[in-house]
Amino acid sequence: MADPLPSLSPAELARYSRHILLGEIGVAGQRKLAASRVLVVGAGGLGSPAALYLAAAGVGTLGIADFDRVADHNLQRQLLHDTASLGEPKVVSAARRLRATNPFIRVVEHADGVTADHALALFADYDVIVDGTDNFSSRYLNNDAAYFAGKPLVYGSVFKFDGQVSVFDSTRGGPCYRCLFPSPPAAGSVPGCGEAGVLGALCGVIGSLQALEALKLLTGIGQPLTGRLLTYNALAQDFHTLTLPRDPTCPLCGTAPSITSLSAAGYAPVCATIPPTPPMSDTDYPLEISVTEAKRLLDQSPSGVLLIDVREPYEVEIASVRGAETIPLGQIPAHAHSLPRDEHLLVMCHHGGRSLRVTEYLRAQGYTAVTNIAGGIDAWAEQIDPTLRRY
Ligand SMILES: [Zn+2]
Repeated sequence: MADPLPSLSPAELARYSRHILLGEIGVAGQRKLAASRVLVVGAGGLGSPAALYLAAAGVGTLGIADFDRVADHNLQRQLLHDTASLGEPKVVSAARRLRATNPFIRVVEHADGVTADHALALFADYDVIVDGTDNFSSRYLNNDAAYFAGKPLVYGSVFKFDGQVSVFDSTRGGPCYRCLFPSPPAAGSVPGCGEAGVLGALCGVIGSLQALEALKLLTGIGQPLTGRLLTYNALAQDFHTLTLPRDPTCPLCGTAPSITSLSAAGYAPVCATIPPTPPMSDTDYPLEISVTEAKRLLDQSPSGVLLIDVREPYEVEIASVRGAETIPLGQIPAHAHSLPRDEHLLVMCHHGGRSLRVTEYLRAQGYTAVTNIAGGIDAWAEQIDPTLRRY
């Protein structure tokens, strides 16, 4: 039987030599890449680094889907485009750059982006879909189309200083985007389209991670992020990986799905870019709990619960609970987007008043897993640890 993989010319062997030197890739892996087809949806902040790395890596067919044109506020992070491409369709600008990066690959322009009408036919032509879109309606459409087409979807999103990456691959038994976020946030609860800021270099981190996941899927090396959600905070330089199980009640990939086909009406635009907080359990988090309950939670799940002490430094010197992170009240707004969203935040002060205000403030900032400790450290000293000095 003939080898179906394309052979590589001497020029290609030289170009890809630093890949080929990796035992896990070698010539065989590089030929797999040459035979592979990846669709990058969105030639923006995430699609730029993802597509550039996939092109340079020698992915044989690289599709770029985007209906938009290059605007000046894109250039702060969308490195596929430059000042000379202002006003051009993004796919045209992107294709020019990608062909210049690697003339050995085929770049396919999809100037209509992805719509419910043609998504299934479009995805059928590709091996892996990379989602670089920045809004919920597109993410749900890409997710559902990839599920129905049986293609792995490399998901990424950014908001201000936070990013997320995962691989949704039902063919490997993994969850989908709707297992993570069953429905979009309510209109008005999140910033409108174009209103949210993002640190440009953060897109480079997340988009590059998406390219990396795609290359792993195509060559079969390593452990893809299937069933895991990687979260990243740029200010803290903090990566977390959460296990992401398939949800049997998922409206798409669950046991009794309510979504059984793509319909244009199902993907009305929702102007929202903030990543919703991943669900941590079936129960809602109470606004306030007792010191006894707080102690029980901290003992039961030390890595899933973060105790935040919002008192002033001089108060902390008088008495403090071991393991608490000190963030004085006045510094909370500066930390409002860098606190972990995958941990239950317990907020404490002296008597529970300041910490209740902080709890309500953080909830208004989109944190759902945040709870005030009623009575504060004074109640803690009285009921939990009598060795603490009271003041
Ligand atoms: Zn699902």
